[in-house]
Amino acid sequence: MDFDEYQKETAKTAIYPKEREDEYLALGLASEAGEYAGRVKKTIRDKGGIIGESEREARKYELGDVMWYIARSADQLGYSLEEIAVANIEKLRERQRKGTINGSGDNR
Ligand SMILES: [Mg+2]
Repeated sequence: MDFDEYQKETAKTAIYPKEREDEYLALGLASEAGEYAGRVKKTIRDKGGIIGESEREARKYELGDVMWYIARSADQLGYSLEEIAVANIEKLRERQRKGTINGSGDNR
């Protein structure tokens, strides 16, 4: 499955009030990222930081949840997921070229 196919598939399960789409998607993205972070926290607390096979698989699904919200957010803004991926890689390559990859701030 490629990015475009995935993004089209997410539209089929996008069930939320369209008039609140902006905040719904942002909250969903933050919430799912938080679920992933929660799993990492519990791995430290309960498993000594060792990622077992069931944990690995659970994280796969959480990353997928994050990806769903990224795909819907991109769509909301009129971008394809492919455009988001390409723009991100171009930004990182430019930072690498300028030697600012290790700094901080949005406009490096
Ligand atoms: Mg989740």
